[in-house]
Amino acid sequence: MKLLQASFNTDFESTIENWISNNIEVGSSAVFHVYASYDDSAIFTKLDAVKEILTKKAPNIPIIGCSATGEILDGQLYDDALVVTLIVFDDPTSNIDVLPLCGNNAISENDILDFAKNIPDLRGIEIITATSGESFDIIVNALDKLPDNVEVFGAVAVGDDERKPFVFVNNSDYDESVATLVFYSGNSLVLQTNRMFGWKAIGYPFTVTRSEGNIVYELDNKPAFEVYEHYLNIKKDSYFFYNALEFPWEVRIDEETFYIRHAKSVNPDGSIVMSTNVPLGSKIKLTYGDPLRMLNHTKQTSTNIQSFNPEVVFVFNCMGRKLFWNDQKDIEVAELSENLETTGFSALGEILRHKGETVLNNLSMVTVAMKEGCSQQSKNGHVKKVNRFSNMPIAARLAVFINTITEELMEKNDQLNDMLYEASHDSLTGLLNRGAIERVIFEHAENKDNASSNEWHLVMFDIDNFKQINDHYGHSEGDEALKELARCINELGISKYDIECGRWGGEEFMIITENYSTEQVKTGAEKLRNAIKEIIKKEYPLTISVGVTKHRPGEPVTDTINRVDSLLYQAKNHGKDMVCSDL
Ligand code: GH3
Ligand code: MG
Ligand code: MG
Repeated sequence: MKLLQASFNTDFESTIENWISNNIEVGSSAVFHVYASYDDSAIFTKLDAVKEILTKKAPNIPIIGCSATGEILDGQLYDDALVVTLIVFDDPTSNIDVLPLCGNNAISENDILDFAKNIPDLRGIEIITATSGESFDIIVNALDKLPDNVEVFGAVAVGDDERKPFVFVNNSDYDESVATLVFYSGNSLVLQTNRMFGWKAIGYPFTVTRSEGNIVYELDNKPAFEVYEHYLNIKKDSYFFYNALEFPWEVRIDEETFYIRHAKSVNPDGSIVMSTNVPLGSKIKLTYGDPLRMLNHTKQTSTNIQSFNPEVVFVFNCMGRKLFWNDQKDIEVAELSENLETTGFSALGEILRHKGETVLNNLSMVTVAMKEGCSQQSKNGHVKKVNRFSNMPIAARLAVFINTITEELMEKNDQLNDMLYEASHDSLTGLLNRGAIERVIFEHAENKDNASSNEWHLVMFDIDNFKQINDHYGHSEGDEALKELARCINELGISKYDIECGRWGGEEFMIITENYSTEQVKTGAEKLRNAIKEIIKKEYPLTISVGVTKHRPGEPVTDTINRVDSLLYQAKNHGKDMVCSDL
């Protein structure tokens, strides 16, 4: 296969004529790609002219096009070029099938799958899309049902609020709600894909605690913007986009899946508009772009691609990455193009299937190397050696410092949390221990005495005839019964903020409730007594006796405790398995 490329200029028509007469034989498959700068004011006039010439000169070759930026031509990125490429296949079994998906017609997963399944020797599917919304999800869901060895790759067309991204096929309109799928198949066709990030995660992970689509409201229950303000001193001003672009997020969905997202803008409420959606519950870390590290990554990938000996390499570069490199925007594409035939553009999102799952990336570079047959001669005599820097830049060293300190602090924090937990919880039942539940009660009483409302209750209970259980069934069976009782208490939800339970002594437990009426507490105590009897199935009856009282305004806490204790013993004296209350 080979790649021909040209920009739209005065010689364009004769260039195309030459391409066709010199390269296209009867039966050979080919495809045109057209990448047009989205912010060129004459974009549609030029595209109309291009399409007319292409359809006239080569009516049977499909045309795939989209709005773009940073179009690649001869190994360089352009901002204002209209680039047309022609890929021609040598092997007669190689084939191109195009499936335009019209936004207004409902796209069905099955239609896409049926189309794909009818193509023999399917190797790869290119998605060029104007949207990353719902219809994109349908496409991805369909394609991910195909065997793992089918590569899926592509990009999101470029646009902004005024000039919407669009894609087109052949002579169709410039559709803003459509995606086009290009199916590459062939007996000898081989594809190799890569995804490059190069961003280095730094610091603690944060959890996305509130998000909707691409708007992240909260991280660790605080407005998302605080992360930028607190850790990076980035302000809510007109430089926000560029400042935040240097610190994108690594979004981790699970061990295997992660991608990079960047902040586009910040709302007055402190929520952040991200480049693409960030799912609720995902863990994010700030990353930073160390240019040398990124370039090193690109060089390694380039070496990797060269050893594959491809004939054509698609490069989907991120528009944000192009902005990040600023006046060196060519640097990575030039690195990749040194010994390789590259084509592609800078996009609003880069698509790649990785381990069977198609992911929409941001700030990445996706490459797709293609060749027909496996014994191609190496085009480059030598494979360049990657220079590893012996002298690490100071920013990179500081990142190592931050990460090492963060890891050490996180480990200490975990240890401290474990110690705090052990110090306040009973090891047998996992409930609060005597010291902890006492603290809860006394702290509670202190707070409440200052407040207007003084409604809190104590419920104390003790297992009936527990000595006999120990004596008949053994001490370890007694332990089991205590554990099951604790499980039952947790299942009933008696360990939440306004109702807490602790192990007061051997088989004696204390509950404190707040914001519940006396009636609710009394019925609650009855429910608890019944639940324990019913839920815990043993060959012996397991019942409890319960005391219930309310704190009286102004009385010492010890008086309330003593009172609930004597009510519990009143229940014991009146025959056990009952609730006694003075209310
Ligand atoms: P009552 O109905 O009057 O409460 O009778 P009881 O047999 O339950 O009497 P009491 O509450 O005085 O006895 C508590 C027993 O619980 C004594 C003690 O050996 C036992 N016990 C205390 N802690 C544990 C423990 O962690 N595991 C086991 N298996 N037994 C315990
Ligand atoms: Mg007892
Ligand atoms: Mg007891």
